[in-house]
Amino acid sequence: MACIFFFSIPAHGHVNPTLALVRELTARRHRVIYYETEEFREKIEAAGAEFVSIEPYMPPVPENIDRIAGRDFASLIEMVTDTTISLDERIAQDVAQQEPDLIIGDSVCFWGKLLAKKHAVPFICSTTTFAFNERSSARMKPQLPEILRMVFGMPRIEKSMQRLRDHGYAAESFVDVIQNDAKTDTIVYTSRLFQPENETFGANYAFVGPSVMAKYPRKSHAKPLVYISLGTVLHNAPRFYRSCIRALCGMDCDAIISVGGKVDPSSLGDIPANVQIFPRVNQLEVLASADVFLTHCGMNSVSESLLCGVPMVLFPQHSEQEAVCSRAEELGAGLRLKHANVRSIRRALEAVLADSRYKAAAEAVAEDFSCCGGAKEAADFIEERV
Ligand code: UDP
Repeated sequence: MACIFFFSIPAHGHVNPTLALVRELTARRHRVIYYETEEFREKIEAAGAEFVSIEPYMPPVPENIDRIAGRDFASLIEMVTDTTISLDERIAQDVAQQEPDLIIGDSVCFWGKLLAKKHAVPFICSTTTFAFNERSSARMKPQLPEILRMVFGMPRIEKSMQRLRDHGYAAESFVDVIQNDAKTDTIVYTSRLFQPENETFGANYAFVGPSVMAKYPRKSHAKPLVYISLGTVLHNAPRFYRSCIRALCGMDCDAIISVGGKVDPSSLGDIPANVQIFPRVNQLEVLASADVFLTHCGMNSVSESLLCGVPMVLFPQHSEQEAVCSRAEELGAGLRLKHANVRSIRRALEAVLADSRYKAAAEAVAEDFSCCGGAKEAADFIEERV
């Protein structure tokens, strides 16, 4: 029986895919201690792990988190640095008391990796997006504002690296912090087929397939169903939703739009009878009926869409989502939305609905996903290493 510390960032898209693995590990009688914020306590405990709240150690969530997430790199690095340093004493105590055999850390939860190195505990990376190396990260194609923010943020990033070094962390350069070397054992929650540049990843990468809680049986219905969502983070986009609603008005389809909790539906203008607006939906249940998904290209949303064989209109919001978009496009399972205006939205939705090759390509990826080993393969991979 191994004792495993699990670290992730407070984001559903990063925690959800790990829960089946936690359930599998605890069913195999391993002890999993999962460090997360209170919001996730219930589902982590339900998966069988012991929960430790990192809430008291987190810096306050900035007002402009929507802008920072995936875009403002210097601010993200500062948040990671603050969290790592404030967790420092607590983790040192826990490591001394529990003597973990392994630390598993989400690929963007840098404190997991930094803490593992500092305390010389073996480390496995858990990647809910793609695995990124030099070749696959070239697909992220950051846009000019992102690059500029990064360049102007460098002095702040360097200051953070110095603070980490002052606390005994191996943070020679920020590249060390954000990237793993090719030898790091890594669990990736997608298939080798869907991973871009897959031939560049060796046997220390376990592509276990998307980890989805429940797939609903496919439902048929009279009219095509369009589903639109920008995910759970960068979803405060009333202007975009208004364009979608105008594009859908008069189309021979039904539509469901998940707008998130920050958008007031009454601010979206007249809602035509064929469109329904919700702050949040059960996405898997909706996808079981959907014929096309206009998505922001979050890794989970795209995986869920493919798993359900639903073709997509692809509308990435930042560079990581750009990589997901380009792979889905390459495999023929979706069409990129070039402009977020009424005409382009309607044309893209109609094009995907009219051309059955998009659906066939999505179904081919679904078939490939169904051959992946899932949580059992991930747990085997871990057991071979502890
Ligand atoms: N989701 C949901 N209901 C919604 C919108 C999103 O259940 O109305 C779920 C979706 O099924 C997915 C996750 O939230 O599992 C979004 O993750 P993703 O990686 O796609 O995007 P993020 O929210 O991290 O940008």
